[in-house]
Amino acid sequence: MKCRSPHSEVVNTRSTRGGSQIWRRRRCADCGKVITTYERQDLSFIQVVSSSKTSPYRRSVLFISILRVLDAEHLTDIDVDNLVDTIEQKIIIRGQDEIEADLIRRLCLDTLKAIDMNAFMRYMALHMNFRTKSDLKAEMKKY
Ligand SMILES: [Zn+2]
Repeated sequence: MKCRSPHSEVVNTRSTRGGSQIWRRRRCADCGKVITTYERQDLSFIQVVSSSKTSPYRRSVLFISILRVLDAEHLTDIDVDNLVDTIEQKIIIRGQDEIEADLIRRLCLDTLKAIDMNAFMRYMALHMNFRTKSDLKAEMKKY
């Protein structure tokens, strides 16, 4: 709250972005000003499983992996938060508290392909292990 009052009441609530976010209008109990908040589901209960380790899901890890494959000049056009929400939504609808790291990478590739082909290629080069060029070509055909 602008007036720094800790007291507010929720006046309206809506689910947005396919349920991955909750939109709320809150009114300050002291000055009456209305503000909007967005709440995101905390996915840290989900364990990410890879061959070497299991660790709790972290949005920041996903966010940075997406950020680093996007062209800097496109960052003003692309809403990275929105992109990460889209990927998280695909994780949420599975309804499981464990996910393979490899599946997260595939969800990222699926999502990036629809938005930015350069980012898709960069992500694939960074995160998928290919021994030969034909491995890479075979993998690309899956998308
Ligand atoms: Zn206030």
